[in-house]
Amino acid sequence: MVWRHGAILVDMEFVQFYPYRLQQPGNIDIMTKIFAKGAFLVNDRGERFMEKYPKKELETRDKLSYAMFKENKVLLDFSAETGSIFQLDSPYLYRLYQKGHEGEWAMSPVQHYCMGGIQTDEWGRTNVPGLYACGEVTGGLHGANRLGGGSLTESLVFGHRAGKVAVQEKSMESIAGIMPSGTEELVDNSPIIGESEMIKKVKEVMWQKVGIERTSLSLKEAADELNLISLNLENENSIQALQIRDKVRSAWASAISAAARKESRGAHKIEDVKKEKKEWQGKNRIHKTSLLFTPLSSKVEMP
Ligand SMILES: Cc1cc2nc3c(=O)[nH]c(=O)nc-3n(C[C@H](O)[C@H](O)[C@H](O)COP(=O)(O)OP(=O)(O)OC[C@H]3O[C@@H](n4cnc5c(N)ncnc54)[C@H](O)[C@@H]3O)c2cc1C
Repeated sequence: MVWRHGAILVDMEFVQFYPYRLQQPGNIDIMTKIFAKGAFLVNDRGERFMEKYPKKELETRDKLSYAMFKENKVLLDFSAETGSIFQLDSPYLYRLYQKGHEGEWAMSPVQHYCMGGIQTDEWGRTNVPGLYACGEVTGGLHGANRLGGGSLTESLVFGHRAGKVAVQEKSMESIAGIMPSGTEELVDNSPIIGESEMIKKVKEVMWQKVGIERTSLSLKEAADELNLISLNLENENSIQALQIRDKVRSAWASAISAAARKESRGAHKIEDVKKEKKEWQGKNRIHKTSLLFTPLSSKVEMP
């Protein structure tokens, strides 16, 4: 939505995946404690595939997510966990277990946190006068990856800062001028044809081509496909179409930023260039449909 209003997006290629997610028999987060108490992961051949890593299932989120993604199937074995300790270690898992499930306990990494987002200064100001932002919707604070547990602090610090300057700078007066554009003339509330298929398609493209495993080719294909989906919605004159277009543009921003970065860095790992490259130390920024890479040493900024 803010992209549509001309806000600059930064670091959109950096997306963190979270490995500790149970998919079957229920969709819940697993507490990592159980892996310190003897639980482990196996693949469809019964092999403990994290054995070769120093920290095994307690490796960094990136390493574990990637290793899991490479397996056909990932199953959780928590037979070592028992009784009241189990209940304390992972209460949601314990509750599911109590219901008595006989089948597999299957896990999969999931998209977790976007390090990219709206560019702000250290007080939450964006390039759009009167628009302030804080929290996960912003980008640039965590660099190419994020340490777990910092988001609450982030929200408190930058929520306070953005609120403070917004009041000081009387943002409501200026924001009234920018926010109506784009939606005020839309009165058509009818659903658009093929909406759920379109969202399904976007999800598939993102998971298969902009997910944990990416290649230069898959990213370029994804950016083109998402751009096309968005363009096809351009002539639709309904609120629903606008909302879907915003979602698609957000996905496109991740894809196009990732396609532009010809190296692996932090959470952005491409199969065909596995190393960091010095010349890619810097930021990808998106303004409308332009993408600009700025080296860290440069002072050049987008409008
Ligand atoms: C499973 C999971 C576990 C996590 N665990 C931790 C943890 O242990 N520690 C940690 O620090 N972080 C954790 N995180 C990350 C952290 O939860 C998020 O980064 C943080 O909640 C983001 O807060 P936020 O206020 O910026 O955004 P959100 O919490 O996403 O709030 C945005 C709000 O805006 C609303 N909204 C969206 N669009 C509109 C609109 N158009 N109009 C009006 N309202 C709108 C949404 O409904 C939502 O309520 C976790 C994340 C996940 C997914």
